[in-house]
Amino acid sequence: MLELVNRGYVYRATPISQEVETYLRQCFGARRKMYNLHVAHLYHYLEKSNYQAGDPLPSLKKMDMPTVSEFKKQCINEDNVAYLYLVDAFASNEAKQNFNKAITAFNKIANKKQYKKSALKRQKTLGVEPTFRDLKGMPKFHSRKGNKASYTTFNQNGNIYMEDGIIYLPSAQKSSVKAVGLKLHTHRPLPQGSKIKNVTVTMNIKGQFGVSICVEFPKEITSIGTPIRILGLDYSQSHFFVDSEGKKANYPQYYRKMKERLAKEQRVLARRIKGSNRWEEQRLVVSRLQTKVANQRKDWIHKKAYALANRYDMVVVEDLDLRVIGQNKHYAKNQQDNGFGNFRLYIKYKLEQQGKYFVKAPKNFASTQLCSTCGHKNTALKGNVDVREWECPSCGAHHDRDRNSAFNLKQYGERYTKDEILPKIVGA
Ligand SMILES: [Zn+2]
Repeated sequence: MLELVNRGYVYRATPISQEVETYLRQCFGARRKMYNLHVAHLYHYLEKSNYQAGDPLPSLKKMDMPTVSEFKKQCINEDNVAYLYLVDAFASNEAKQNFNKAITAFNKIANKKQYKKSALKRQKTLGVEPTFRDLKGMPKFHSRKGNKASYTTFNQNGNIYMEDGIIYLPSAQKSSVKAVGLKLHTHRPLPQGSKIKNVTVTMNIKGQFGVSICVEFPKEITSIGTPIRILGLDYSQSHFFVDSEGKKANYPQYYRKMKERLAKEQRVLARRIKGSNRWEEQRLVVSRLQTKVANQRKDWIHKKAYALANRYDMVVVEDLDLRVIGQNKHYAKNQQDNGFGNFRLYIKYKLEQQGKYFVKAPKNFASTQLCSTCGHKNTALKGNVDVREWECPSCGAHHDRDRNSAFNLKQYGERYTKDEILPKIVGA
């Protein structure tokens, strides 16, 4: 079957002229400026309305948030930010969307009234009372000195295109820059018949540019038919996952290994004068270490997903809310280190590319509590994560918690095959 597949391609890239580079930096700046205007309005409103920690943030309408074009009009009077009219409009709109997301994310944890560690420390040592600005997750001003700048622009009527290894992006009507081109350091071409959907331009703290091109292209995918080799994967805090064959993923703890070195370099950074040459130098050292951990992590996850997708016809996972686990303070660090969410995404797409199956067992499927031998539901296990091994009160089978859970997921996949996949194959 011919299917439309979406995929992202990431390239290093160089702006074709100084003018283009300036334009792109202005796009990043516009996005940041627009975001900060939203934050400033929010803070102003919260101060005025006597906001209390624990309350959710009001809707944009309630706080009378100006629209993006109203903000732009306000800014045109300040000479230095007239560029909001001279850059890609998507950059400004993206800022508003991000601000909305930040509000939604904050409202999910607003009732916890958690303050940032630094604010609590200040309270202890200097006696400064924390304010709403110090609440964890509160939208905050984006600094120009952030780690990475980016903006995303979308293809409309072919205004994004490739020519001779250069990608051309749309400019703004009022801008003097007409051809926004970036030369790609191509290492692999885009697939045949690709349509570019959107492009994200990024710049790292070293000032190097990159583009991530999202394309859609037709691909012939043949279903493998009935899945034979089925694997259940149970998410595990300590091992990343345990599979239905009892194997542990044994995820290397990259972040933990690097922690000491990173802490040392960060201490050096903290001692240097902010903004000085030596500070800038050290900032690069810290950022390189962080990038290294992120890359190691990504690389491992990709390889693991690739290996499993090749070996099995169907992979079954739980539909668990990883964000909730990440918010639990005992687990937070490990969760960050893990990237199980990304792993699920990669394996899904690698399986589907081969006409294989990725199945998420529904949230109400109690994979942990069911006895994989007799099907008895042992509700005593609910929420009790310390029990690593248990005996089924009904049939007496002895279970390793994670392996039993993975096995239940595998069985779910087998039932799914019978109920959902076989009827379709037979019926076709
Ligand atoms: Zn049992």
